[in-house]
Amino acid sequence: MRRTLLIAVTSFIACGFSISSGLAASASEALGLSGIPDLSLSGEMTQGGWARGVAPRGTAALSLNGKAVQIAPDGNFLIAFDRDASSVAQLALRLNDGRSSVRPLTVKPRAWKLEYIPIGPRPGAAPNEAFAIRRSGELAQINAARAVDHDMQGWRQKFIWPVYGRLSGRFGSQRIYNGTPGSYHSGMDIATGASGTPFVAPADGVVILAADSPFTLEGRLLMIDHGMGLNSAFLHASRLVVKVGDVVRQGQYIGNIGMTGRATGPHLHWSIKWRDARLDPLLFTGPMP
Ligand SMILES: [Zn+2]
Repeated sequence: MRRTLLIAVTSFIACGFSISSGLAASASEALGLSGIPDLSLSGEMTQGGWARGVAPRGTAALSLNGKAVQIAPDGNFLIAFDRDASSVAQLALRLNDGRSSVRPLTVKPRAWKLEYIPIGPRPGAAPNEAFAIRRSGELAQINAARAVDHDMQGWRQKFIWPVYGRLSGRFGSQRIYNGTPGSYHSGMDIATGASGTPFVAPADGVVILAADSPFTLEGRLLMIDHGMGLNSAFLHASRLVVKVGDVVRQGQYIGNIGMTGRATGPHLHWSIKWRDARLDPLLFTGPMP
């Protein structure tokens, strides 16, 4: 078994695209090999994007850049690409019979909106100790919420907009203060011009965090796990109408937009993550109608 794994791993590293026997194959065995049935894959293969696929029958394991990818009982799976993902990703497949293959994926780079601010760094009060303590508690809650995988099926759906409005901040945009990059915008800002507009779940899922008492930066924060490591976060809400553990359906009313936390006006900040990868909500919904 150990030998099989070692050979499989070697073939992953050595070849851009390879089909190999997991056993030490003689030339005749290699010739007899008809190849591994390819997996199907489609989606938005670009930075901040995603792809859904179906693994061929008999797949034992799938990995993206060396990290295991979960496969649903029906063979469907999801992968996604961080805002700063490199232009090539390796999707590796191993079958129950030990054969393996690697499929290199081209991840299209994006031209992120960069704003150069000739002063900097960004002015603001230095964080004090009380803030630091409070913040670490909030981050612990967010991390704990994300740490648990739930068997939800929302990841299979075409996402809908949680609310219609003006896109007042794009995912991935970044300010450069006097040559020093600030952190990029991690979500999509949607403004309706007012506080209190209801917003809905973009896809099925389970509520994993509902901060009724506002967090310092996120304000009233709602997080939904869509399954397979994919989750949504909604920031700055004026009101949340669901609680942790609630299963929500696509289109279900879940809260009202506001400007709690760090916000200069009422808007919904919607961010999506797959594991550690930050994703562009626009690539899940298509353009705002
Ligand atoms: Zn935002």
